[in-house]
Amino acid sequence: MSIANNLNTIKSTLPEHVTLVAVSKTKPVSDLMEAYNAGQRIFGENKIQEMAEKHETMPKDIKWHMIGHVQTNKVKYMASFVDLIHGVESLKLLKEINKQAKKHNRIIDCLLQIKIASEDSKFGMSPEDAKSILQLETLSEFKHVNIVGVMGMATFTDNQNQVQQEFKLLKATFDALKSLNKGLHTISMGMSGDYPLAIASGSTMVRVGSSIFGARNYAI
Ligand SMILES: *Cc1c(COP(=O)(O)O)cnc(C)c1O
Repeated sequence: MSIANNLNTIKSTLPEHVTLVAVSKTKPVSDLMEAYNAGQRIFGENKIQEMAEKHETMPKDIKWHMIGHVQTNKVKYMASFVDLIHGVESLKLLKEINKQAKKHNRIIDCLLQIKIASEDSKFGMSPEDAKSILQLETLSEFKHVNIVGVMGMATFTDNQNQVQQEFKLLKATFDALKSLNKGLHTISMGMSGDYPLAIASGSTMVRVGSSIFGARNYAI
């Protein structure tokens, strides 16, 4: 199967309200261009430097999503172009994104990453932390960030029941946050192995990598 075929097959199964982020981390620009030429315009990367390099060389109508863990001191390398930052997990990071976006006279869309997995390795804040960020009186002073929703990663397990419970927790968190901020509209959840379940649980944005581009080789 070609990248274009994989992409079209996946797209044909997605409901209209679900946005597909093509996760292209570790993949060469030639692979991304195959997806681009098949119509894909949203790409997700998890390393800021790799994303910045690809942004440099690729067409400028691409929307670049940062889906990985973000170190505060690296926000400046993507502030001029990043379209959506999925992994905002602290107020400190939100402040830094605001500061760097201001330098470029931009407003950067952000998702609050919620820890829904039982594994220790997954990043994210608690639903309570997310609530307190949205309730901050000083949030209105952050004029260069726009919180548009939540992101989460389920536990890496074959137990579909557990994955579903975690997705439902993210959806419930989103609903609770939306009562505080009517502007929220995005629930980023679901990857190659679990995106149909994520969509059934309320996802509006899926991040799919290996099902489009094939398995990643981290050894090279
Ligand atoms: C790599 C990655 C994905 C995509 O994973 P696949 O299983 O290849 O679809 C999705 N989300 C995040 C945060 C990732 O790091």
